[in-house]
Parts: sequence; structure tokens; C-alpha cells
Amino acid sequence: MSEKLNRLKEILGEVSDLNRASSVLGWDQQVNMPPGGAEARGLQLATLGKIAQEKFTADEVGILIEDLKKEFPDPQTDEGAMIRVTARTYDKAKRVPPEFVAEQAVAATKGVEAWVEAKQKSDFSIFRPHLEKHVELVKKYVSFFPPAAHPYDVLLDDFEPGLPTADVLEIFGSLRPKQVALIKAISEAKQVKSRFLNKSFNEKKVWNFSENIITKFGYDFKRGRQDKAPHPFETTFSMNDVRITNRFEKNAPLATLFSAMHECGHALYELGGNPAYERTPLAGGTSLAVHESQSRMWENLVGRSLPFWEHFYPQLKKTFPSQLEGVNVKTFYKAVNRVEPSLIRVNADEATYNLHIMLRLEIEIGMVDGSIQVRDLPGIWNAKMRDYLGITPPNDAQGVLQDIHWSYGAVGYFSTYALGNIVSAQLWEKINKEIKNLEEQIRKGQFAELREWLRVNIHQYGHKYDPADLVRKITGQGIDSAAYVRYLTKKYSDVYGL
Ligand code: MG
Repeated sequence: MSEKLNRLKEILGEVSDLNRASSVLGWDQQVNMPPGGAEARGLQLATLGKIAQEKFTADEVGILIEDLKKEFPDPQTDEGAMIRVTARTYDKAKRVPPEFVAEQAVAATKGVEAWVEAKQKSDFSIFRPHLEKHVELVKKYVSFFPPAAHPYDVLLDDFEPGLPTADVLEIFGSLRPKQVALIKAISEAKQVKSRFLNKSFNEKKVWNFSENIITKFGYDFKRGRQDKAPHPFETTFSMNDVRITNRFEKNAPLATLFSAMHECGHALYELGGNPAYERTPLAGGTSLAVHESQSRMWENLVGRSLPFWEHFYPQLKKTFPSQLEGVNVKTFYKAVNRVEPSLIRVNADEATYNLHIMLRLEIEIGMVDGSIQVRDLPGIWNAKMRDYLGITPPNDAQGVLQDIHWSYGAVGYFSTYALGNIVSAQLWEKINKEIKNLEEQIRKGQFAELREWLRVNIHQYGHKYDPADLVRKITGQGIDSAAYVRYLTKKYSDVYGL
């Protein structure tokens, strides 16, 4: 094997080690760390991040990449793909000056602090100057890159490599009127009962039930664990140590089950990677949208389906006999699929969720191209909520201030959530063509064939293919919302008798 390739892999392996050590520190920060540890932890993370960045952006890496591009020109080979992915990340890292990265880090810390206070007091004016600063920095970031068709392309590319803004707008544009019409039809239909979901459920029993489900999905507790944290997330330390977190909310006790399925979907992606990619930039999921397609698939297409509950509901009812007294499986299934336009994105159901995303995307694009001013945000937010969901936030805390992303300057991220939903339905149609009796398997609590299909067709490739290419390779088409519309229409026709 090429000596230069070995040398590059050695450096990239060390960069990966440093980044994964940061992930361990970040996980500990969320799961175990007492509040007093915060300041030192911030410094430790900054130091590790700086060393990793210096190592990765060294001139030697650039020279190795250029030489190896000639040696491995075919991106269909693992080596060629690794060089291509590394070159792209290297080019981005080199364009952004370290002073800018430092300035952004300071603005992020101050922004989060101001956002917490603004949200607490429900006062956008406290956060406004910080968001204005972030928008200024975002525009500066864009200026480091060659001009794109739309300035937002540069931001989106960091999360969805190779997917232009125009494509996302087209995908969302065709989906929006259909989703709005569906929600209207549902609001006019007979509503489903779901009060019993808000009864008091024992936390420990719910937690154990969630672990029972994900064990059946194939989450391997010898290569992972589930811990309690303020927000559910998945984090990877190596392909043999992929952890998830979860929470318990008294007012939505069974949400813990769906969060576990969601994070397990992310974890299975990471656990199903190709061992040969470990400690290289090919490890991990190809993009946020494809990652989210996996979590959404296990949470919604599997976990909110009738066959799934036909298997698990008898056990759930046995665990919670008084809470679920008089509730049959069909009633339970309908309840966990209840649709109700609501203010908060993270609590939104499948029918309304994407509309929350679309309004954020439109606002982000407007802030970046200058057509929307930060000072006008609360008004614009509320007007879009009325247009898309028919409700008006009573205050900014439940409106424009609800998400943390903008507080640290992350712009370009939101659309990946909705794209994940869309891709999950496209994949699901393909899987059901290839695994003919999938429903029957799910009804029996069998998930091995589904998991293996995902591993072979998606997980094992890591970053080898860009997201749109991977979707095309599997389904024969690009990212397209038609399958998602078919899925929603079928499900809600059943749940609401449309
Ligand atoms: Mg997720």
C-alpha cells in the first residue's frame, strides 16, 4: 500500500481520536458533570478542538491529498472516496481563518447566554443584537467561499454536501400545499382520543420498556448504553461504543419510548458502519438528512405503525393495566398518531412537523440574502405560523425564541430534519418492495431483516456516497416528497377516516 496513504491515514486517525475524545467530554457534560465543572470543561473542549484543527489543516495534509488524488483518482474505490471527502473538508477548513473561528466561538457563547435569558423573559430584544452579530458572521463565512448560485448554498453544504438550496426549495414547495391540505382535512374530521397518554406512568417501567423495544430492534448493549440527559441524543466514540441518551417528561411519559426508538435509529447507522472506515473521514453517516431518515424510520414508520403495536401493545398493557384500561390497540395506535397543530417544533406530530421546518428555512434564507431583517423576526415568525398552521404564538418564548440553533449561530441545519422525513418514506417504499412480508415480521416483533437491509444498503457506506447519490443509488431517483405524501395520506386516512 502507498506510503503516503498510510501517512495520511495516521494523521486522520489521530484527528479522529481527538474529536472522539471531545465527544466523550461532551457526553459526560450532559450526563454526569456537576454544574461546577462547566468552566474547565469548556476550556478542555476548546483545547482538544484546537489541536485537532491544527493537525488537520497542516500543510503536510494538503500536500498528501494532492499527491494521493493522482494515485487514487477513482471515487468508487474506498481510497478514492476517502481522498475526495478529506479534500472537501480540508478545503473548507483552510478557507476559514482561525481568527474567524475564534470570533465565532466567542459570539456563540455570548449568544447562548443571551438566548437563555431572552427565552426565560420571553423578550426577543435581549437576543436581537446577538442574532444580528451571527447573521453578520454567517455572511462573512459565506464570503470565504467561491460565489454559489445562492449564498445559502454554502451553509447548507456543511450539513447536506452537494444539495443546493434551489433543490430543497423545490422539494419543500411541492410538499407544502399537500401537507397544509392534509392538516385542514384532519382538523375537520372526528378527533381521536388520547387523554390516557397523559396519565401518570412509572418512570422506571417506561425506561425499561424503551430498552426492551430497542433491544428487539438490535441495539447492542455490549456496544452501547442509554443514559438520562436533558435532551435525547446519540453520540459515537467508536463503532463499538455508540451511546444514546433519553429523558422522562411527566406530562408526556410515553414520549420516552419514541425518543429511544429515534436515537436507536441513529445508533444503528453508526453501529452498522464498515470497520475498515474506523478512524477515517468515511466513518459515520453521510449527512444529517440521511442520519435523520434512519431515526425517523425506526421512530415513525416502524414505531408508530399498527403492526408494531399489535406486537408490543399486549406487553405495554400488562405493564400499565390501570392507565390503559379500556383502551384497545387500535385506539392506542390512533392516539400515538394524533395530529394537532402546535407551537413547538420538537413536540410536533408527523403531519405538521415539516411546516415548522419550512418557515425556519424561509427565514434563514431571508436573513442570509438580506430580504429579512432580524428586528422583524417575531412578526414574520408569527405571520408564517398563522399561514401554515393556523395558530399564533402568544409570546416569543413559544415562537421565534424556541430553538437553540440560532443562539450559537447555526444557520443551515433545520431543513435536514424535514429532508430526513422525506427520505425515510422513499427508502420505506423501496424496502417494502424488497422485503415482501415486512409488516408481518414487524407484527411478530422481528426486525433483523429490516436492520440488515439498512446495514447493507446504507450503513456500511458511511460517507462514501453523497446523500443525494446514495438515495439515487438505492431508489433510482433523487430526494423527492411524493413517497412521503403517499405515506402520510395512507396513515391519516386510516387514523382519521379521511
Ligand atoms: Mg435526530
